[in-house]
Amino acid sequence: MADIIQLLPEYLANQIAAGEVVQRPASVVKELLENAVDAGATQIQLIVKDAGKQLVQVVDNGSGMSATDARMSLERHATSKIRTTEDLFRIRTLGFRGEALASIAAVAQVEIRTKLRQQDTGTQLLVEGSQVVRQQPTAAPDGTSISVKNLFYNVPARRNFLKSNAVEMRHILDEFQHVALSKSNVSFSLYQNDLEVFNLPAGKLSQRVVQLLGNSYKEQLALVEEVTPFISVKGYIGKPASAKKSRGDQFFFVNGRFIRSAYLNHAVLAAYEGLLPKETHPFYVLFLELDPKTIDINVHPTKTEIKFEDEKTVYAIMRAAVKQALGLHNMAPSLDFES
Ligand code: ADP
Ligand code: MG
Repeated sequence: MADIIQLLPEYLANQIAAGEVVQRPASVVKELLENAVDAGATQIQLIVKDAGKQLVQVVDNGSGMSATDARMSLERHATSKIRTTEDLFRIRTLGFRGEALASIAAVAQVEIRTKLRQQDTGTQLLVEGSQVVRQQPTAAPDGTSISVKNLFYNVPARRNFLKSNAVEMRHILDEFQHVALSKSNVSFSLYQNDLEVFNLPAGKLSQRVVQLLGNSYKEQLALVEEVTPFISVKGYIGKPASAKKSRGDQFFFVNGRFIRSAYLNHAVLAAYEGLLPKETHPFYVLFLELDPKTIDINVHPTKTEIKFEDEKTVYAIMRAAVKQALGLHNMAPSLDFES
């Protein structure tokens, strides 16, 4: 009998992996913004055209890459962020799987322009459907610019599956919000079809919340701060009067990473019990910090789910922290944990 099993060619493996990591333009936005943050950028610019269908570009002033690294960054499982199994249990960066750029490059036309601070010349790299079309030295500012054009140009089924520009833009704004909230000490801007939508200077979290989510939260934020040896919970919650009929202004970050958790949401709501008008949702932006050994973020490729070793304790501390913030906000002037 003939043997029939073969290893998939690299480009095909990348295309398959891309199915998980890259769902829509917003997935590209998330991955590129997270890479810019991991690169230590203090200024990050997001440029989108046609709701990201034509272009998603992120320009950062972070570390930049060498010519060799620029090429390597496109390989699957190629990362500068972890090296050993132990590293997997002490992750401090947003990325670590080394999959994003390889996946994106498999389903789009990608241009990387990058320069290390200590070098005079940068690198330009053009890639189409995993194939490097050109790599050459170029003049470039410090940092990295990655442009992702014509997403899914080679996967018509995916391309046709994309929703209206309004819907895709909503998803992009969500990702932009998450990263911009998680790093108020980094300045962010967003351009949509050449129009400036946001220009957020580096500053305090409370200012970022109002600039990003609107004036309705001005004077409406109560400080949350609870530090135990096991976990630290910091951030802001909205006073009950600022609760909205619509959902969406609820944000958890665990060790700097945006996550979704119905369980933790429940803990917050339990603290508000009896204080909210019916059918309204309170604002919160809460940062949980705990030993990376006690969590597992490797549940899903997009890393928005998390497993806590001791979920019940996290719940109890969260609820207590929010309760305390709610009880205190009338009496004490809200001290700013950032000042
Ligand atoms: P991961 O972020 O999981 O490591 P990616 O595919 O997103 O995987 O990126 C691969 C590598 O490329 C990163 O580990 C990093 O070294 C490099 N890289 C990607 N984007 C940037 C950037 N904006 N600035 C500097 N280096 C970058
Ligand atoms: Mg990454």
